[in-house]
Amino acid sequence: MNKVVFKLIALWWFLATSVLANHHIAMNTVLPGEQKMPPVKLHSLHLAPVNIATTIDQLAADDRIAWQLESSSHLAIQQGINWYKVVVHNASQQTASGYLTLGNDIAINSLDIYSVQPGFNSLNAVNQSQTTRLLPTNNRFTELILAPNEHRTLYIRLAADNELYRPLVVENVHAFMQSSGARHYQNAFAVGGIIAIAVMSLLLYVAVRDPALSWLSAYFFLRAILLSVLVGGHLYYLFPEHPELRGGELLALVALSTLAFIWFTIHLFQLKQQLPRFVYAAKWVSLGLVTISVFSFYMPPSLIVLATNILFISTLVVLFSLGLVLYRRQQRLAFLFSVIMAVQFVFGLLISLGLFFDVSPFNARESLLIASFLFNTTLIVFLICRMYYYQMHDKQLAQKEALTNALASQKAQAQLLNLQEENQEELEQRVQERTLELNIALNELEELNRELEQKNTIDELTGLYNRRFYDQRILAEYRRSKRNLTPLSLVVIDLDFFKRVNDKFGHIAGDQCLSWLAQHIKQSLKRSTDVGCRYGGEEFCLILPDTDQNGAIALAEELRKAVQSFDFVYQGESISLTVSCGVATYTQQENIAPTHIFCAADKALYQAKRQGRNQVNSQDISPDLLIQEHSHD
Ligand code: GH3
Ligand code: MG
Ligand code: MG
Repeated sequence: MNKVVFKLIALWWFLATSVLANHHIAMNTVLPGEQKMPPVKLHSLHLAPVNIATTIDQLAADDRIAWQLESSSHLAIQQGINWYKVVVHNASQQTASGYLTLGNDIAINSLDIYSVQPGFNSLNAVNQSQTTRLLPTNNRFTELILAPNEHRTLYIRLAADNELYRPLVVENVHAFMQSSGARHYQNAFAVGGIIAIAVMSLLLYVAVRDPALSWLSAYFFLRAILLSVLVGGHLYYLFPEHPELRGGELLALVALSTLAFIWFTIHLFQLKQQLPRFVYAAKWVSLGLVTISVFSFYMPPSLIVLATNILFISTLVVLFSLGLVLYRRQQRLAFLFSVIMAVQFVFGLLISLGLFFDVSPFNARESLLIASFLFNTTLIVFLICRMYYYQMHDKQLAQKEALTNALASQKAQAQLLNLQEENQEELEQRVQERTLELNIALNELEELNRELEQKNTIDELTGLYNRRFYDQRILAEYRRSKRNLTPLSLVVIDLDFFKRVNDKFGHIAGDQCLSWLAQHIKQSLKRSTDVGCRYGGEEFCLILPDTDQNGAIALAEELRKAVQSFDFVYQGESISLTVSCGVATYTQQENIAPTHIFCAADKALYQAKRQGRNQVNSQDISPDLLIQEHSHD
């Protein structure tokens, strides 16, 4: 992009310089046939004292006027009314036509050219009106036709607002055609070039919608018009009958182009964010500039020129300083901006000097103006191109950065994912370990519980099952018996006269006696399903599933005999003991609960005690049986 822009600028300069060079060559080439054109030349130039109040008739006739011979062909114009006496000469032997050209300038207030016919002199004043005549002029050039070898005296009345130097050129038709053609060509080239860039800016604005470009386009349009005004295409030139138009557009155009350039600058450097106070001031200045441009058409020309110069210089100073301020803030393009302002200032200075000094290059006013405008335009285009280059560069950098950031974040995400996976694995492992530990603990707990439960169901003294176990077991066996239609027998056992053992040998002996009996009970149980329990105190129960009454009686009898035949030995002393047993058998009688079974067995025991103890007794089960509080004594 940058390279393309450089190439375009180089091409533009190449075209501009080659066109101007061609034109220069054309101007300096002696065309065939030119020699045949009779030369018409300036013979002498005199200046009358400035602001003498006189008419052309008085002037031409008055010999006392102190005419001052001018050495150069430039008119030194003073403020006010200037009278010049110009003598032109046709050195050839044939009638020749030529042109007298005077720079067309807004500062020139009025221009009248009088021609005096040959043979006129002050003594022969009678025919004055016939011998002096006002030559038609279009504010730029006047046509002259001279007889062979004629010296023609012309009087020029010129009123100006300011002091200035203007070239006075007298040349034959050929030279005039050539120079004016070249001038028109050069002016059109410059003005057209700037308009082309204005149009380009406008199109660019339409394409990219950057407000800086719209202001720039306006600026270039106004500058193109301003240049054409400065090189002679002003309103007064087009409408000489309206002197009130003279110079108004100059100030208006300078004011409006200044306005456009200020807003271009504001958008270029984005001053709304950077220097809001400058933008605030710029709004008021813009209002002032619009007002000035409206009122410029009502101002006297001298004020217009003064105001234009002040506006031009102050704008450049302010914008140049702004450029420096921004440069110190390290704003891009600020330095280039200041350079552009400085260049314009230098050109302005050169052009202004041309108003006062009749020295090259200052007096080449039009060329200087064109060079200034073209140079300014080119530099601003370059500025804009740089701006776009930087914008693109920034965008590319930002994109690159975004890409690296995206890559970095992708990497970080991957790392995070890895870490998460690792953590997940570790977590799972830990959970597994913990679960295992927990399972072990649970197993241990279960075992402990089982142990505890067993302990809960075992009677500590005798090692038989306890009462709690009895309650559960008798219910379970009752249900099973009911379900399977099998008989269930219950034997209740009670030591006979146990109280006496306690009384005689003490409770410890009684306890040992109980565990001794328990041993006998355990030995008496044949089946694995048979269960011996300590019901309470010195009463024991045998739960005998799938055992009928006879079987139960037989088992009880066996136990009774065993107890009877083995003495309990305590501290070397044998103690004979007997037991009484009550038997009841459940064979699915109606309306029977486990308590009824116990009641029946207990009743049978009670009967055995009553019938003399040391015997087995049985009792049928009936729902009418109630638990009885009884004593076996
Ligand atoms: P019976 O032939 O009528 O059964 O006469 P008995 O003396 O055995 O009378 P009973 O069955 O009413 O006696 C219960 C006695 O058993 C009361 C108490 O002194 C004794 N006893 C009950 N439980 C225990 C125990 O756990 N240890 C000891 N040493 N004695 C107990
Ligand atoms: Mg008892
Ligand atoms: Mg007893």
